[in-house]
Amino acid sequence: MSIQTNLNSIKSQLPEHVTLVAVSKTKPVSDLMEAYQAGQRIFGENKIQEMADKQMQMPKDIEWHMIGHVQTNKVKYMAPFVSLIHGVDRLKLLIEINKQALKHKRIINCLLQIKIASEASKFGLSLEDATALIQSDTFSELKNIKVVGLMGMATFTNDEIQVEQEFNTLKLAFDTLKHFKAPNLKLKTISMGMSGDFKLAIKCGSTMVRIGSSIFGLRNY
Ligand SMILES: *Cc1c(COP(=O)(O)O)cnc(C)c1O
Repeated sequence: MSIQTNLNSIKSQLPEHVTLVAVSKTKPVSDLMEAYQAGQRIFGENKIQEMADKQMQMPKDIEWHMIGHVQTNKVKYMAPFVSLIHGVDRLKLLIEINKQALKHKRIINCLLQIKIASEASKFGLSLEDATALIQSDTFSELKNIKVVGLMGMATFTNDEIQVEQEFNTLKLAFDTLKHFKAPNLKLKTISMGMSGDFKLAIKCGSTMVRIGSSIFGLRNY
């Protein structure tokens, strides 16, 4: 199956209000260009250096999303161009993103990552921690970032009931946090769902799916 065929098949399964992030990590620029030529403009990467390399080589009307765990000292490499950072899980990281965004006279959109999986390996804030973060004075003073939604990753399991419960947890966190007010807070995006579980995620309220292998094929790490 070609990348174009895969992409069109995925797109035909997405409701209008759901945004597709094509997750192109580990894939060569030629593969990304095939998706670009088929109309895709939003790409997700999980390593900052790899994203920056690809950004330099590709057309400038692409929206680059950082979907991986972010090290504070690497924010500067993506600050000039990144359009959405999905995995923000601490105030210290937001402070650094704000600082780098200011240098480039930008406002960088971010999602707070909420821990919904039972696996110890997945990053993210608890609902309590996220609540405290967005209510803090420090947060409200960050003028060059904007928190526009939440992101979550479900446990890697075949147990659909468990995955559904975890997605519902993220939706509930969204419905709770959206009542809080701050100048740099406007929750509209729920980023959840990957190749194996995006249909369930959409059923549970996802507005943004991050799909890699169903578009580009399996990755060999
Ligand atoms: C790799 C990755 C995806 C895409 O996974 P697929 O199963 O290939 O669709 C989505 N989200 C994150 C955070 C990822 O790291």
